[in-house]
Amino acid sequence: MRGTTVDGPGFRTSIYLAGCRHHCPGCHNPQSWDPTGGDLMTLDDIMDIVEEEDFDVTLSGGDPLYNPESTKILAEALKANGRNVWLYTGFTWEEILEAPALREAVEKVDVVVDGQFMEGLKDTDLRFRGSANQRLVKVKESLSSGEIILY
Ligand code: SF4
Repeated sequence: MRGTTVDGPGFRTSIYLAGCRHHCPGCHNPQSWDPTGGDLMTLDDIMDIVEEEDFDVTLSGGDPLYNPESTKILAEALKANGRNVWLYTGFTWEEILEAPALREAVEKVDVVVDGQFMEGLKDTDLRFRGSANQRLVKVKESLSSGEIILY
């Protein structure tokens, strides 16, 4: 976890969940692919750090949606704590909607940055994402309208 300004608006606490099976060529963080990597932390441990740093929060990885149950619990706790929450995933918004466990995991999140990193579409001028296929999806608005509403 660390304070960052690149994973969403404002200064944020980023939480990296271990494990990713997308294996995108050019991934910025391949050491995060191992689901047994990183430090084991309880929800209380994480919330203590979030409250101490007192920023909004970004869930990244790895891919948090390879641990949808834990991500759901974490997102709910963060929202109950009044945080704005962004989530980065290699799954597309359409794939999330088709998988009940993934959909439940993101329901409390404010913005999902979706899709795998694609080296051929890499653009360093894009805000908050690495490649042009990725979208900043406003979750509540998209779920209630039935179409993708972008941030
Ligand atoms: S989804 Fe993210 S963490 Fe996973 S391989 Fe792709 S770029 Fe890396």
